[in-house]
Amino acid sequence: MLATKNITAEELYKKLKNIKIGGTFCHFSLKKCQQMLPLIHEILELKEKKNAIILTHTYVSPEIIYSVGDFVGDSFELSKKAMETRATTIVFTAVRFMGETAKILNPDKEVLIPSNYNGCDLADDITAEKVRELKKQFPDYTFVCYINTTAPVKAECDVCVTSGNVYKVVERIPNDKIYFLPDEMMGLNLIEEFKKKDIKKDIKFYTGSCCVHKEYTLEDVLRDRIHYPKAQIISHPECKPEVCQNSDFVGSTSQMLNYLKDTSAEQFIVLTECGLSARVKAEHPDKNLVGMCTLCPFMKANRLEDILRVLKNPTNQDRVILDKTTIEKARRCLEKMFEYSK
Ligand code: SF4
Repeated sequence: MLATKNITAEELYKKLKNIKIGGTFCHFSLKKCQQMLPLIHEILELKEKKNAIILTHTYVSPEIIYSVGDFVGDSFELSKKAMETRATTIVFTAVRFMGETAKILNPDKEVLIPSNYNGCDLADDITAEKVRELKKQFPDYTFVCYINTTAPVKAECDVCVTSGNVYKVVERIPNDKIYFLPDEMMGLNLIEEFKKKDIKKDIKFYTGSCCVHKEYTLEDVLRDRIHYPKAQIISHPECKPEVCQNSDFVGSTSQMLNYLKDTSAEQFIVLTECGLSARVKAEHPDKNLVGMCTLCPFMKANRLEDILRVLKNPTNQDRVILDKTTIEKARRCLEKMFEYSK
């Protein structure tokens, strides 16, 4: 549990004061914390009254994570939390497809999305209609979708994966013909990983990409190696293959955080959304981070004001509403992932 009902401005500031990322976007003063406090207390009271839980993705703004969030994690960890919770309302501060995953796993619960943005650069790259076309084109292939896809896309696919289990799950699928979507970079990284392990699968992939992770280039990595020779570079599998191949560690946001916690390097360069750097500074202030990070406009669109609004008076736009067939088909796709990732 992150949020405490009687949190004070001093306690919040203590958590946030080391975070200095993304220009002035994520810089906090005691005064700023004091100003946010009435809003935070109102959210916490309402949350309790409505038997709600607030799930916060690592990439949302840190003041949300450390003031009103009950749990923080990546999309897979939050989906698991959504399954375990006894709360009747789930406020999912992330992007819409993640809220949809929570709804698929908890069809009887109300899932609310406070962000005014509906999409995500990567998830919006492919539609269910496109998947149906591809399935006609490649009838012998098992269709594997990344968790960063909409519910209708998951409903058309056979198996879902996350950035943390993609290699393990695809390896275990009893078909050598795999169509992976939507992330081209992750598809290319999958092929490279299987080459290294001598796993023979025919992998085709779609050409979607994430605006945050595709920003990092090999030139960035090589320049960082010169500027910060003692730094360990850690990256996300949504980054380009040449970036991943030249990193010291590649993993999901949770795996990156764990690696960082357990590794005693002098400096680290974290090639992912700035939210991970913020969590490192808040939770492990002794770790020395250098280099750049990138902000995700979709994740950062979540605001405390909107969390209060959806708790107080949710509209159908704020609710995740999915039809029964989509829920059942998408759930089968997620369950296959749970089965293969055990
Ligand atoms: S970082 Fe942002 S744009 Fe990229 S996949 Fe995640 S939510 Fe989508």
